[in-house]
Amino acid sequence: LGGSISRALQQMSNATVIDEKVLNECLNEITRALLQSDVQFKLVRDMQTNIKKIVNLEDLAAGHNKRKIIQQAVFNELCKILDAGKPSFTPKKGKPSVVMFVGLQGSGKTTTCTKYAYYHQKKGWKPALVCADTFRAGAFDQLKQNATKAKIPFYGSYMESDPVKIAVDGVDRFKKENCDLIIVDTSGRHKQEAALFEEMRQKPDLVIFVMDSSIGQAAFDQAQAFKQSVAVGAVIVTKMDGHAKGGGALSAVAATKSPVIFIGTGEHMDEFEVFDVKPFVSRLLGMGDWSGFMDKIHEVVPMDQQPELLQKLSEGNFTLRIMYEQFQNILKMGPISQVFSMLPGFSAELMPKGREKESQAKIKRYMTMMDSMTNEELDSSNPKIMNESRIMRIARGSGRQVREVMEMLEEYKRLAKIWSKMKGLKFPKKGDMSAL
Ligand code: GDP
Ligand code: MG
Repeated sequence: LGGSISRALQQMSNATVIDEKVLNECLNEITRALLQSDVQFKLVRDMQTNIKKIVNLEDLAAGHNKRKIIQQAVFNELCKILDAGKPSFTPKKGKPSVVMFVGLQGSGKTTTCTKYAYYHQKKGWKPALVCADTFRAGAFDQLKQNATKAKIPFYGSYMESDPVKIAVDGVDRFKKENCDLIIVDTSGRHKQEAALFEEMRQKPDLVIFVMDSSIGQAAFDQAQAFKQSVAVGAVIVTKMDGHAKGGGALSAVAATKSPVIFIGTGEHMDEFEVFDVKPFVSRLLGMGDWSGFMDKIHEVVPMDQQPELLQKLSEGNFTLRIMYEQFQNILKMGPISQVFSMLPGFSAELMPKGREKESQAKIKRYMTMMDSMTNEELDSSNPKIMNESRIMRIARGSGRQVREVMEMLEEYKRLAKIWSKMKGLKFPKKGDMSAL
């Protein structure tokens, strides 16, 4: 997506005369790209109309900032779509709230329930989980397992088949136990959910619609169907760690008139992030998630190394020593694949998801080889100095095969190429989009 949008903007910059035709062509190209990213057709079409109103052809023709003007306009329009106009109901710590999760089976409700509970527990809440999914066999066991892992109280039944009864009993019990966030997991069937909502003595304070980011153009209809049977008040988009860019989130907001509040970024309990419009839209447009990237840098790179790393990144000098230092950080801090996956043009090839162990072993192997390098080799940003005799010496010194040293150097070149793209970039502070 990012590729075609930049291409469209590039073609536009190359055109000597910017007339309506050129602008239309550019917008059509962007439209195609957004559709591929699962943004609903109607939303894209409306956006296109708005942009034509906003973007002044004379400005474009005169200006040197055509790219920026259009990009900014597209960016703003997408942000506007994601703005539901009003914040969702926010539970208050210490005051009992009931939150019900709805969404199609497999969308990630049970997983997300636990993430949501765990997130609040870490902030000092007393959450509890109620399994009102009596439809799927094993549903209660799954919730029980998740809840136990996170040390969160749970309620459910193997015998009772009426979800309403379970929900009512569970909510009552946890209210007595002074839980302030009572989370009800459901089966994903509209009828059951509508009944649940109707028949629960304490109506849920908030209904969260959970949507799988990979469902594509089906997002709008799905969200609308749930909105029609229960009063959806917020959206959580899951599986954002996958290939989907999450354009469906725009549809979910449009269909439910509710904001996205969190995104799920993996199967684990803590792979859960507060939703932030701007980084989400940057990612959707393939612009790289700079503020998310900065957050990750702050998390992953030790404080005292941060200014230096950013400086080096903006100079575009990616040396073997920088790679070595980043490897050290990765081994200390865990999955940097998340950091890399946010950079433009960088898929997490170095540390594929689910293969962290293997990747760590590989990184350690690379580091052993780099331990046999001279300072000159480590600090050079010219890969050409790594000639045959040096490679042989490093292999001997580290007890590794020549082939392995070459593989490591290939990895370095691949990383260097990507990092060199960041040359001259000014890293924005959170929320600042000037790097666009
Ligand atoms: P439910 O049927 O709606 O309750 O969905 P589940 O919570 O059982 O999730 C279905 C599958 O999606 C499970 O295999 C989860 O591990 C997986 N899943 C849920 N959220 C995420 C996510 O954010 N990322 C990834 N990669 N997988 C997820
Ligand atoms: Mg479930």
